[in-house]
Amino acid sequence: MLIPMSSPDITAAERAAVAAVLEGGALSRGPQTDRFEAAIAAAVRSPHAVAVNSGTAALHLALIAAGVREHDLVVTTPFSFIASSNAVLYQRGVPIFVDVDPRTGNIDPALAAEAVAAVRAGDGRARRWLPPSLRHAGSRAASRLTALLPVHCFGQPAEMAPLVRTATENGLRLIEDACEALGSEYQGRPVGTFGDAAAFAFYANKQVTTGEGGMLVTPHRRWDRLFRSLRNQGRDTDRDGTYLHLGYNYRLSEMSAALGAVQVSRLDELLARRERVAAWYRLRMTPHQPLIEPPATGGALTRVSWFAYVVRLAVGINRRRVMRQLEARGVPTRPYFPPIHLQPVYRDRFGYQAGDFPVAEDLGRRALALPFSSVMTEEQVDYVTTHLVSVVKQQRAIVAA
Ligand SMILES: *Cc1c(COP(=O)(O)O)cnc(C)c1O
Repeated sequence: MLIPMSSPDITAAERAAVAAVLEGGALSRGPQTDRFEAAIAAAVRSPHAVAVNSGTAALHLALIAAGVREHDLVVTTPFSFIASSNAVLYQRGVPIFVDVDPRTGNIDPALAAEAVAAVRAGDGRARRWLPPSLRHAGSRAASRLTALLPVHCFGQPAEMAPLVRTATENGLRLIEDACEALGSEYQGRPVGTFGDAAAFAFYANKQVTTGEGGMLVTPHRRWDRLFRSLRNQGRDTDRDGTYLHLGYNYRLSEMSAALGAVQVSRLDELLARRERVAAWYRLRMTPHQPLIEPPATGGALTRVSWFAYVVRLAVGINRRRVMRQLEARGVPTRPYFPPIHLQPVYRDRFGYQAGDFPVAEDLGRRALALPFSSVMTEEQVDYVTTHLVSVVKQQRAIVAA
């Protein structure tokens, strides 16, 4: 058997919608984009949605709207896909990393509050939170704390109530990276509606795909207009031929938008199928705790929209060897996430070292994403689990010997 890491869930309805765009002739900036935006706005229960061509582009525009500019500080998590903090660097801002909750892998709200208080106090306490290369005195004279950027990791909602409080009490913009969490809910409310803007993504392995694509949602009418201008080279949305801002080409094609609109109309079905696959995995993993730990699920009012199925291997298990042996049996896996601060691009710029964010690093060493999609069969889940368990048990025998 050869199991794909992920597979898009495309039906005849998606194929027909894309074909109709190709026959109609309007391939960009047309009715499909409007339709897709309206569908996401309704699904997320947000008043404004603006389509762009990637989740990364959405994050970038959200940080522009938040006013992040050179030297500005943005409190965020090192345990994420690298795009979340790269967007801060695009604006020449500085991510202030805060370690994560070991259960969920999401930013620890108490540490985030502590970092915000320390950085705002601006005394010696602030230094501990700055990147090592910026800790010497005087280097932060011009820095401003601008925004809070939590990530809903693998579809598990971040602990939003205390994060909202920290942002409100300190006059910070709150931007949600909801790229892995379309359809997730925190305390009965969809993620993406807790702050000033949120980014969603539609790469091929996400819950809803447009091939490549992204979406911004915001409660602010002014931000909606700004996003529409910025995605279209900074054009005035009312007067063509006038350019108001330094803009980008972050427009989504009509083919992608048509695909997305159909996918969103199937959102409940897609999420239910993913939930079912996650339940098959959970049932098979549970007896093998703590050797293999299944992902945490939320409390009563939290709904997880499953993006990936990421287990944790017990300390001492050689993950690289497990991955190699599974690969040889037709089971691809991924080490989600390699912590951002330890990537060469961040180490070189900011001087981070191993040990700086121990929880994120521990998760980063032990986490293993298994094949996952809405079209996975129970038989495939069986196959993956049987081989994972056998390979890990073999490893444990080696460690014990
Ligand atoms: C997928 C993802 C992104 C970026 O989305 P793209 O569409 O690939 O640019 C950003 N943040 C997180 C957490 C993601 O998983």
